[in-house]
Amino acid sequence: MIVTVTHDAPATTTATLLATAASSGLAARMLPDDRGGAVIGVDGNLPPDALTLPGIHAVHRDHKPYMLASKEHRTRSVVRVGGVAIGAGTPVLMAGPCVVEGRDEIIEAARAVKAAGADILRGGAFKPRTSPYAFQGLGEEGLRCLAAAREVTGLPVVTEVLEPDQIELVAEYADMLQVGARNMANFPLLRRVGKLHKPVLLKRGFSATVEEWLMSAEYILAGGNANVVLCERGIRGFDPAVRFNLDLSAVPLAKELSHLPVVVDPSHGTGRRSLVPRMALAGLAAGADGLIVEVHPDPERARCDASQTITPAELASIHRRGLALHAALAEDEIAEYGFAEVALSA
Ligand code: PEP
Ligand code: MN
Repeated sequence: MIVTVTHDAPATTTATLLATAASSGLAARMLPDDRGGAVIGVDGNLPPDALTLPGIHAVHRDHKPYMLASKEHRTRSVVRVGGVAIGAGTPVLMAGPCVVEGRDEIIEAARAVKAAGADILRGGAFKPRTSPYAFQGLGEEGLRCLAAAREVTGLPVVTEVLEPDQIELVAEYADMLQVGARNMANFPLLRRVGKLHKPVLLKRGFSATVEEWLMSAEYILAGGNANVVLCERGIRGFDPAVRFNLDLSAVPLAKELSHLPVVVDPSHGTGRRSLVPRMALAGLAAGADGLIVEVHPDPERARCDASQTITPAELASIHRRGLALHAALAEDEIAEYGFAEVALSA
């Protein structure tokens, strides 16, 4: 059951609802809504006499299994990473190398992507590699390098967390925690990031349905962390010509079903550098709130995922054309329907 509570409800209303749930043996959690009120998701139904308290706005007994990620109580969420707002209108560009290669290297990359228009720096310190013999990242040293690059450029940093026990360490350095495709259904990890308030970039597993992806987001929201951004990064197809199939229909679908911002990763979503710019633009045309792109000053020499890594100059072109495309779509949609389906600046 979902119970929505108005912004001016007495504090006793939410406290009583939570206490009634607890005394009925039902787990419940509360998150703020976008009208200044709150939403309480209860694992079951509260008795009708508990639902007559002042300030209760609506009660939904029929809802999606992802109660808190669904559009039922919120129309749109904006997630703030450092000073950058994701989902507020202007598409956000996250960019950087697949893996942090060293202090000087990440500072050079950060400067380059910032000059190309990036808002957030990406780079893996702990890497999930298919082969145990492949470079696994610099670990904590990589996190220190990312922090140094933020210091120099002012760009907030997103980096992956692989294991529940790493979360606090990664959160000390990162502005946003990335949960990778291979960990989308790692429920202990999702529960632990749900206990923090750091923003989380939740990548879609490459064989996960959209509903499973939203249920993974629900784990994080249910823990009390409302700062989740979804990332479509490609699903497994049958054609080895591309590494993954970027599932762009999942972008408007996830936005139709959920209030969470959605970004697109055209790098892992194709595995081919030549396809990245077009698919990045296609992601924005599909309504994405931003992009996460692998960029290296010298892509051929990137230590990981070189074949899908683009240059800063290519990123600058995506930035320029992406903003123009976004503005043109918004204008066009307003002319056609009186509102824009692509997010407009708040
Ligand atoms: C990454 O972004 O570096 C990465 C490993 O992505 P994914 O989890 O989508 O494969
Ligand atoms: Mn990569």
